[in-house]
Amino acid sequence: MYELRELRKVFADGTAAIDGISLTVGRGEHVAVIGPSGAGKTTLFRMLNLTLRPTSGTIRFDGADITSMKERDLRPIRKGMQIIFQDPHASLNPAMSIGESIADPLRIHGDATEAEAKDAALVIMKEVGLSPPEQMFAKYPSELSGGQKQRAVIARAMILRPKLIVADEPVAMLDMSIRAKILELMLELKDRHGLTYLFITHDLATAKFICDRIAIMYLGRIVEVGDAKAIYRDPKHPYTRALLGAIPIPDPDARRFKTLPKGEIPDAAYPPAGCRFHPRCPVATPACGWEPQDVLDYLDQRSLDDAARRADEEILGPRELMEPDGPTLRIRVAKRSMGLSRREKRRSAIAVVVAGLLFAALSPIVGAGLVASGLVSVLAVDALARREAFRRGRRPDPEKVRSHLADILGKAPEPLRQSVRRLATTADEVLVEFAPTEDPGLRTAEEREVRCVLY
Ligand code: ADP
Repeated sequence: MYELRELRKVFADGTAAIDGISLTVGRGEHVAVIGPSGAGKTTLFRMLNLTLRPTSGTIRFDGADITSMKERDLRPIRKGMQIIFQDPHASLNPAMSIGESIADPLRIHGDATEAEAKDAALVIMKEVGLSPPEQMFAKYPSELSGGQKQRAVIARAMILRPKLIVADEPVAMLDMSIRAKILELMLELKDRHGLTYLFITHDLATAKFICDRIAIMYLGRIVEVGDAKAIYRDPKHPYTRALLGAIPIPDPDARRFKTLPKGEIPDAAYPPAGCRFHPRCPVATPACGWEPQDVLDYLDQRSLDDAARRADEEILGPRELMEPDGPTLRIRVAKRSMGLSRREKRRSAIAVVVAGLLFAALSPIVGAGLVASGLVSVLAVDALARREAFRRGRRPDPEKVRSHLADILGKAPEPLRQSVRRLATTADEVLVEFAPTEDPGLRTAEEREVRCVLY
């Protein structure tokens, strides 16, 4: 009924917020897409309601390719596919009564007279629990509670008798006590009208309550998708396991991760290679996609320890000398730094002369004095820098850098250490080489598909 094929959305800054999502929602199915913040949920939702067009891939609704359909052609399709937004307060026009808002889609689609639209609104209001409907009809959003507003939003979506409801966190902004009631209402409606639901949420509990299939997203990709019961009972992807482990469960013997994975979710603009979860994964293997960035991250982690940071800075030099180049990390070995570079000297001299000329307009003597003293200062700084360089004995010594790196990598987590294919030196570089890696892709495993090399 609703089919997403290899959807991608790349923003102007190069961020691939959605990076190859395929998902099919069959008629009568209730599917949730679950992901942490930054996973790309909002971007996906905007593409699903066609307010944001994908960079590539296709969206089909009832067999029709609607990916790049014009708004005019989409209108009849929008009737069958209604959207529920997260924020019920922002979804209702404050200047319209609740009844008018609910009846409005019928008027927009030109399918009913005023009287018919009002009657239909009263019927649906009763069905969603906005009672007594005749009284509620004339109320304004400001007079309603959060739960009542969300009921009104649901009624407005239902009035066109859609087949598919796409909902973005439909209960996230409601009080805990009201959430269950709204979800129950959504369950009743789906049973009564044979609705198909596609939920987007960060909340596993909501998804469990209402959905029979779930897709777990991480950094723009689906990492596990399949039967909800199977996944809740026995999550396979380490990220899903971590996510489910973070929900309190009554069975103390169940094997779950106790804590959420280490570290932050990486920036989607620079996603990790291979499996995007590998830097945080507690069961990562050398085959999971280790890359130069992981070495840089490990150096960052080491720098929290003062002694390690000083040693690394002294021997490896500053971060500007380290550059990922595909599967290779190139570390330029600091050249013998003998004072200021030619460019630095030239720039300083120009700055001094310009300042001198400005002052020369006031007094030629002051100007000349300034130029002379400025040039002497540049030479003095250069001499001091040469002395400092000499004192530190910074000669290019790739071998020393290589052996320090070998020491560091020896202490790195095992999968990272084992995935380094070679440490090599050239005249002025040390190279840390990894095998090129690929995303493992979705693999079939027990009633679901999972994107992990362990399966
Ligand atoms: P979620 O809703 O799951 O938190 P989003 O879809 O909002 O995720 O964002 C996914 C990633 O895409 C984030 O890294 C975000 O910074 C980036 N992103 C979202 N919108 C834009 C945009 N307009 N331009 C550039 N990057 C964006």
